[in-house]
Amino acid sequence: GKPVVAVVGRPNVGKSTLFNMLAGQRISIVKDTPGITRDRIYADVSWLDRSFTLIDTGGIEPDSSDVILSQMREQAEIAINTADVILFMVDVKQGLVDSDAKVADMLRRSRKPVVLVVNKVDNFEKYMADVYEFYNLGIGEPIPISAANQMGIGDMLDEVIKYF
Ligand code: GDP
Ligand code: MG
Repeated sequence: GKPVVAVVGRPNVGKSTLFNMLAGQRISIVKDTPGITRDRIYADVSWLDRSFTLIDTGGIEPDSSDVILSQMREQAEIAINTADVILFMVDVKQGLVDSDAKVADMLRRSRKPVVLVVNKVDNFEKYMADVYEFYNLGIGEPIPISAANQMGIGDMLDEVIKYF
């Protein structure tokens, strides 16, 4: 079958915004309420001569005792296990937070290829120094994107398809 790519990261980093943009339609719900996507949602995406199945996830909030958040975490773990490549999304506006590092540890344990995408880089010149901070996750080169403004998406997809 087609390669599977899962978008994971904390709630509210912009996973569903990216998913909807790549899916070419509004399938997944985007809300300012963190963690609004509760189920895995699938779309077929094509890039250059390649196509793959993209999975949106509800977002991982490590160590949450909240029932919905821990259910979302479970869904994200299932998506990670299903995926051939993981798109790990972080948020330049919030910067590197503790739970990003915890998600990074979880992804390292999965031993799957990870593409680290730094979202909300709405101005590449202004935020580039903040993007480099994410090297500290020790998971590879951070790729700046703005899902909302459709910037950096081609470079990100080039990285993803290298792993197929
Ligand atoms: P998810 O919880 O990770 O799926 O995040 P959502 O896709 O629901 O987005 C959370 C919030 O971030 C929404 O208000 C989006 O409009 C906003 N957002 C998403 N992408 C960008 C971006 O590239 N730039 C900015 N400034 N905001 C964004
Ligand atoms: Mg979402």
